[in-house]
Amino acid sequence: MTSPEPIYTLADLDTWSFSGTALAVLGHPIKHSISPPMHNAALAQMALNDRRFGSWKYFRFDIAPEDLPAALKKFYVRRFKGLNLTVPHKIIAFGLPDVAVTPAAQPIGAVNTLLRTEHGWTGHNTDGYGLATGIQEDLQRDLRGADIVLLGAGGAARGAAVECLQRSCASLTILNRTPKAMDELIELISTLDSKVPLRGIALKDLSSVPAGALVINATSAGLKPDDPLPVNLRSLVRPAGVYDMIYNPLETPFLAQARALGIPAANGLSMLVHQGVRALEIWTNATVPVEAMRDAVVKAMAAR
Ligand code: NDP
Repeated sequence: MTSPEPIYTLADLDTWSFSGTALAVLGHPIKHSISPPMHNAALAQMALNDRRFGSWKYFRFDIAPEDLPAALKKFYVRRFKGLNLTVPHKIIAFGLPDVAVTPAAQPIGAVNTLLRTEHGWTGHNTDGYGLATGIQEDLQRDLRGADIVLLGAGGAARGAAVECLQRSCASLTILNRTPKAMDELIELISTLDSKVPLRGIALKDLSSVPAGALVINATSAGLKPDDPLPVNLRSLVRPAGVYDMIYNPLETPFLAQARALGIPAANGLSMLVHQGVRALEIWTNATVPVEAMRDAVVKAMAAR
C-alpha cells in the first residue's frame, strides 16, 4: 500500500490553489516515497505547540528529469518553502543555475534539499548527516575515528565517502563491483583536503581490509531478492558493525548474514529519518519531533 497523498505533476502547478505553506518531494518515479507521511506527521505534531505549522503541508510530485528546470521555476513562483529531491533529481539540480549550492554540499555533487530564499533556491545535502546520525543511533558508532569499509561507488557512496572524510574517520577503504567507478570516486574525493588514509581495493583481495571496521553498504545490491551480496562478510576480519543504506526490504540478505555472524547491524531507515529531520529543520528553523517521523516511516513500511 502506498501513502494516501495524491501524486501531483507539473501541470498541477498551473492551477495550484493550496493557500498554506507548501513543501514537496520531487522524483521520477515518486510512488515509492514515504517522505510525505513522515513530514506530515512531524508537521502535525509541531502544530500542537506552534499554530503556524497547522497550515504547512508536504506533497509529492512526479517530475520527469527534463522538466526539472521549468518545475523549479514554477515551484518558486508558487512560493513552495522547500523541496526534497530524490532519484534522478539530486544530481541534475546540483548543476542548475537556479540552485545556489551550499559549500558543504559542493564536494558531494548532489543536493537533496532546496530552501526557498528571496534570491532563489539554496541547495543542501542532508544525506550525510542522516547517515552519520543513523549509524550513531542504531550502532552506537561514530564515523569519527572509525575504520570505514564503504561498499559502492555511485551517488550514495560519494555522499557517504565525503561525510566519512569530513568527520575524520580513521581510514576509508572503498570496494566496488566495477573497479573503474571505484577509481573515479577515489580520484574525485582525493581532491578534498583530508588527512584520512584513503584507498580502493579489489573485491577479490579482501585480506588487507582493516580488522574491526564499520562496513557501510551504499550499493543497490539487495534491493532485488536475487541480488548477490555486495561482499561476503565472512571474508572480513571481525567487522565492528554493518550499516545497510537499503531500507526496502527492511532486511537484505547482507543484513541477515551480519546478524547470523553476530555482527551489530542496521538498515537505512534511520538515515531516511534523519536526513528528513535535518531538511525539516532547514525549512522550519524549529525543533523537529524525530520520534513522530520515525513512527510514521515504520507505519508506512509496515503498510506496504
Ligand atoms: P547508484 O545507481 O548511483 O549506484 C549503485 C551502486 O551499487 C554502484 O556502486 C553499483 O556498482 C552498485 N551495485 C549495483 N548493483 C550491484 C550488484 N548486483 N552487486 C554489487 N554492486 C552493485 O545508486 P545510489 O548510489 O543512488 O544508491 C545506492 C543505494 O543507496 C540504493 O539502494 C538506495 O536505495 C540507497 N540509498 C538509501 C538512502 C537512505 O536514506 N537510506 C539514501 C540514498 C540512497 P557498479 O559501479 O559496479 O555498477
